[in-house]
Amino acid sequence: MTVGNMESAQLFDAGKKGRGLRATKDLKAGEVVFAEPSYSAVVFDSLASQVCHSCFRRQAKLHRCVQCKFAHYCDRTCQTACWDEHKRECGAIRKLNFFAPSENIRLAGRLLWRIHKDTGIVSDSQLVSVDQLEDHVADLSEDDVKNLHADVHAFQEYWSYGSKKHSADYISRIFGIIKCNGFTLSDQRGLQAVGVGLFPNLCLVNHDCWPNCTISLNHGNQSAVSSSLHSQRRIELRALGKIPEGEELTVSYVDFLNLSADRQKKLKERFYFDCTCEHCSQHIKDDLMKAAAEGEGSKPSADKVKDVVAFSKECLGKIENSRVEGDYQEVVKLCQECLGKQEHVLADTNLCRLRVLSIASEVFSYMKDFSEAAALVHKMVDGYKKLYHPNNAQLGMAIMRAGVTHWHGGQIETGHSMICKAYRILMVTHGPNHAMTRDLEVMRTQTEMELKMYLKDKEAYHNMREAVLH
Ligand SMILES: [Zn+2]
Ligand SMILES: [Zn+2]
Ligand SMILES: [Zn+2]
Repeated sequence: MTVGNMESAQLFDAGKKGRGLRATKDLKAGEVVFAEPSYSAVVFDSLASQVCHSCFRRQAKLHRCVQCKFAHYCDRTCQTACWDEHKRECGAIRKLNFFAPSENIRLAGRLLWRIHKDTGIVSDSQLVSVDQLEDHVADLSEDDVKNLHADVHAFQEYWSYGSKKHSADYISRIFGIIKCNGFTLSDQRGLQAVGVGLFPNLCLVNHDCWPNCTISLNHGNQSAVSSSLHSQRRIELRALGKIPEGEELTVSYVDFLNLSADRQKKLKERFYFDCTCEHCSQHIKDDLMKAAAEGEGSKPSADKVKDVVAFSKECLGKIENSRVEGDYQEVVKLCQECLGKQEHVLADTNLCRLRVLSIASEVFSYMKDFSEAAALVHKMVDGYKKLYHPNNAQLGMAIMRAGVTHWHGGQIETGHSMICKAYRILMVTHGPNHAMTRDLEVMRTQTEMELKMYLKDKEAYHNMREAVLH
C-alpha cells in the first residue's frame, strides 16, 4: 500500500477492524483533522437538474451543459471547474443519444476515467489508492449479485466511448467499492441528500456509534472574484471534543438514535461488519430509547407500553403514507392521536415518541402553526439532549430548527437561546464558514436585537411582530 502524509492523522493497524487512522497530535473540539476533495462524485438522478454538478449546491436557476443537455451548473465558473470531471462523461452521454445512465454507473465512469488519467492516487496526502479500498463483492446476497450484473452490463455500454476495456470482474470490484465506501453528500443547508462521492482517506476512518469525529461537506467557494481564492468542494473531518495524540479517530456511519441491535443490523447489512463498539456491546442508552414514562401516578404496565409501541409503529407507517400523498390534515390527525396514546406511557426519550414528535413539529411548522410546533419540537430536543453526544451534528441541527420555530412563534427568549446553542454546536461540527453556521450567525444577531427590544418593552415588541406578520 502506498502511504502518504497527513498532518494530524496517520494510518495504523487497528487490530480486528483492519487499518484505521489515529491522531498524531492532541486535537481540540472543532479542529479540522483533515479536509479531502472528492476523488469523484455525482449528483443523484432525481436531482440532476436541481443541483449543481460541480459544487453540489441546490439552486433555483441552473445552466445546462449545451453538449450533453444533462449536467447542470450554477454558472460558467462552476462549469469550468468541473470540466475535467465531466468531459468524458459528456461524450459518453451524447453517444448514447443523450441518455444519461443511473448515478451508480455515472459514478463508476467518473471513477475509472480518473483512475486512467491520474492513477488511483491524486496527491501526496492520499493514504490509499482508490482501487485498494474494500469491495465486499464476495459477501453480496443473490439479489445484489443480480443487480450487480445488470450494472456491469449497463456500464459496458456506457463506457464503450473510446476507452480501454475492463474485465467484468474489475468493474464489479469498482461497483463494490462504491457500494461500501460511497459517502452521501448533502446540500448546502444540510437538508437533503443530493449526491454520492468517494473520499479515499475518509474510507480509512473506522466506525464507532459514539465517535470522536464528525464529517461535514464544505461546498467550496467558486464565487470569489479572484479565481486564486476559489476553493474546491471537499469533506472536512472535525474533532467533536479533545482527542489525545495516539487515539484512534472514528466517525459514525449510522444515526445513533437506534437501539444498539438495530444499529448493528444496519451496519452489517450495509457495511458487512459486526459493531463491537462500547455503546453497542454495553447497550448504552438502549434503556432510555425504549423507556416508559415516569412521573406522578402509577407507572404504566409492561403490556401497556408494548401495546402503545405497536400502535405507534403502525401509526408511523400511516403517517408516512399520508405525508407522501401530501395529505397534511391527515398527518396532523394521526400524529395527535398517536401522541395522545403515548402520553404518560412512553418517556420523552423513547424512540417511537421522538419520531412522532419530529414529524408532528415539522408539519405544524409547515402549516404555520408555530406555537404548537414549538411545544412539540421543544419536547423532541429535550429527548435528543439525553441521547446524543453534546456536540452531535444532528442534535445541533435539531436545536437550530427548534430555535427558529420558537422565534417564529413569538417566543423570542427561548428562540434566541436555542439559536445560540445551535451555533455553538455547529461551530464544532461544521466550522465558521459553512452556510448553516453563517445562517445561524445572522439569526443570532437578529434575535439578539429583538430580544433587547422585547426586554425593554414587551408590548411594543408584540405590536411590532403583529405589524410584520399581518
Ligand atoms: Zn455550482
Ligand atoms: Zn455535458
Ligand atoms: Zn456500535
